[in-house]
Amino acid sequence: MEFALIWIVGAVIVAAAASGRGHSGLGWFLLSLLISPLLALIAVLVIPNRAAAEAERRKEEAELADTKPCPRCAERVKKAAAVCRFCGHEFEPEPEQAPLVADPSGPFAGKELIEVYNGRTIFRHANGRPAVLYKDGSEQDFYEVSAARRLVDEDKDGLVA
Ligand SMILES: [Zn+2]
Repeated sequence: MEFALIWIVGAVIVAAAASGRGHSGLGWFLLSLLISPLLALIAVLVIPNRAAAEAERRKEEAELADTKPCPRCAERVKKAAAVCRFCGHEFEPEPEQAPLVADPSGPFAGKELIEVYNGRTIFRHANGRPAVLYKDGSEQDFYEVSAARRLVDEDKDGLVA
């Protein structure tokens, strides 16, 4: 009876050790009961520590995400670094995420560019809606343009009678 108790307590210890090292607690508990807790404990300590390996991998990943490669010496340095600590290379300051603004001399001057879509330049109209601005300075609501275009396209495909 006492022997069985020691056996089970041993198996629980093995299960705890296995689980702490990233392996199945239940699996190792059952294996301990089968092959003896002492053998199972030795096995748990010999097989790779998955939890430690995973923590190591996460740490490396975090370090990688926080660094950039130096274009001159190829060493990885902190993302915020202005100067490479290995070779002294000076990094270009990160360009600020400037709003897209068109050539100030053209008809698009001062307009907030949204995107260039199908070769057309889409700007934010004063009313907040996207608008297509033509080179002659005339504007048209983007959704109206798209809707008209879609009708034509659908007509071409025979979708609209
Ligand atoms: Zn460098």
